[in-house]
Amino acid sequence: MFITFEGIEGTGKTTQIKRLVAWLTSERGRTVTVTREPGGSRLGTELRRILLSMESRDLTGTSELFLYLADRAQHVATVIRPALDEGKVVVCDRFADSTVVYQGYGRGLDPRLLHTFNDVAVGGTWPDLTILMDIEPALGLNRALTRNVRENKAQAEGRFEAEDLEFHNRVREGYLTWAALHSQRFAIVDATPGPDEVFAAVRAAVEERMPQ
Ligand code: C5P
Ligand code: MG
Repeated sequence: MFITFEGIEGTGKTTQIKRLVAWLTSERGRTVTVTREPGGSRLGTELRRILLSMESRDLTGTSELFLYLADRAQHVATVIRPALDEGKVVVCDRFADSTVVYQGYGRGLDPRLLHTFNDVAVGGTWPDLTILMDIEPALGLNRALTRNVRENKAQAEGRFEAEDLEFHNRVREGYLTWAALHSQRFAIVDATPGPDEVFAAVRAAVEERMPQ
């Protein structure tokens, strides 16, 4: 089973992924591969460094897009597909929908064209379930900022701090629009409450879809 997490910054994706992995392992006896985009493969580690750094500030939207797609194609072929073929559960922090939403609804490229590019990059390996963690952008950004200060991440991954609230509002709305168009695959979880309450909703979404 292939599960992806999506949502703007500060929704608690990483926290919920940790909890889900612990639950899948201890309660369901599953072997889980946890990964993320950008950056899940060896090539991806390099691409992530470039994409999230100030170096990438001058990239055109199109060249940035193709770096994300290269990251994804390599990630699916070398990490995700092999793990699924071994019967593992794969849990991925961001995947193809991030491209549609950030490069599309956020930065103005055509979402339907991006979906076609994604189709090429994933080569048929689409998630069985995508959990969209939804939150009010002002609240999410505030959480992300607190985390970055705590983890001293501001320098390494500082490029996106510069984006304004308007951008994040577009991204959030884009996620909701895109999820409504793919409602079979998506489960929308309200990320506003505390981690226990959010995890109960995440678990319910997974249980509903998981083959016994
Ligand atoms: O914390 P995380 O690993 O999700 O950070 C990735 C960053 O890259 C996010 O801040 C997001 O804004 C950005 N991103 C993007 N386009 C994508 C994927 C991620 O702009 N397709
Ligand atoms: Mg994160």
